Amino acid sequence: MYNTQRSHKDTVKRSPFQPKKPKPKKCKVCHQSFIPTRPIEPCCPSIQCRQEYALNHLDKVKAKEAKAERAKTRAEKLASKPIKYWESRTQDAVNELRRAQDMAAGYGCVTCGTYDADEWHGGHMIPRGVSNGARYEYSNVWLQCRSCNLYGGKGKKVFFESVVVSRVGQAEVDRIKAIPHKRIWTREELEEIYQEAKAALKALTKANQ
Ligand SMILES: [Zn+2]
Ligand SMILES: [Zn+2]
Repeated sequence: MYNTQRSHKDTVKRSPFQPKKPKPKKCKVCHQSFIPTRPIEPCCPSIQCRQEYALNHLDKVKAKEAKAERAKTRAEKLASKPIKYWESRTQDAVNELRRAQDMAAGYGCVTCGTYDADEWHGGHMIPRGVSNGARYEYSNVWLQCRSCNLYGGKGKKVFFESVVVSRVGQAEVDRIKAIPHKRIWTREELEEIYQEAKAALKALTKANQ
């Protein structure tokens, strides 16, 4: 059988329609305790506290609005950038990662072997001007000195490829070469490659610290 006897707890339970007895609160301005008379009352009834609170609150609201406005302008500016901007941003991130990876692996310039360059580049086995499809492939980008990258000449092409074969194997080089040269990248795809490269670089830097 059910127990019909009510517990003491039930009998003292407040009806939800009864107003709550206000508990003392701390004024957000003067930090004194006061009994609120309204449901939302952040500060005590003193005129000074109310004025100060209202002014502070207004400043905060204005600052928040200004921040949102700046973020919106920034987002709009980025959205209006041409795809070329996203392509070079992504290329920079991939090149930076690949240079760091090759340095961590102890490689010098991929084509002349130097460890002493006035400027390090990310050199493409298949130039990006030739293949837009393979330009972000990690196995297609290698640490290269500026002079080899800019003035390497056509004769170095075969040699470049043979070095890459020795490092990643023929199958990987064949895979890179089989990627269609023509490709139209979307901003989302570029963003994904960019984020991936940035994260990998961060992890590598952390591991080498
Ligand atoms: Zn106060
Ligand atoms: Zn070189």
